Amino acid sequence: MPDKSTTSESAAAESNGEQAASGIARKIYPIVKYGDPILEKPSKSITKFDAELEGLMEDMFATMYAAQGIGLAAPQIGKSLRVAVVDVTSGKNPEAKIVLVNPEIIHGEGEKREEEGCLSIPGFRGYVVRPQFVTVKAQDAKGQEFEIRGEDLLARAFCHEIDHLNGILFLTHLSMLKRDLIRRKIKKLKKQGEW
Ligand code: ZN
Repeated sequence: MPDKSTTSESAAAESNGEQAASGIARKIYPIVKYGDPILEKPSKSITKFDAELEGLMEDMFATMYAAQGIGLAAPQIGKSLRVAVVDVTSGKNPEAKIVLVNPEIIHGEGEKREEEGCLSIPGFRGYVVRPQFVTVKAQDAKGQEFEIRGEDLLARAFCHEIDHLNGILFLTHLSMLKRDLIRRKIKKLKKQGEW
């Protein structure tokens, strides 16, 4: 997801614990980092809409807020499921919370090139061209189908998260030169035990 990626963000993302949100203790998951194969394979469709799924979504919001992200996809917490949460207000407006189950982009329009980051690739950002407007078809926590239109940052977040569910990272959209540079730096960090 596009976020204000910093090193402090990844530190927050790695803290594993529980957070009280609206009276219910939520699980804060550690965020899976680039290099884990789960991030690069397509996730499985959701067929069961139950309390467990709703609990998972709330845990995903709590994890995303703890990491100061604006979007999070289930593979990023180690679950290969077609579920993503988005809130471009970072928790400032409860009405901005969006849950996407089995989402797909059914329409895109225009082009916008902006810098993007990802909670699974902390510390690295790159310019990615995305549609300026997208329409997404998805299901909610109860399985009800809906369509939602996003513009600018919201459109970008939808594209980024739906990419995650298809096993695609924002690195894929960068120039080969930029992508290789980031990969090399991550390899070095791994060797130093810092990834
Ligand atoms: Zn991401």
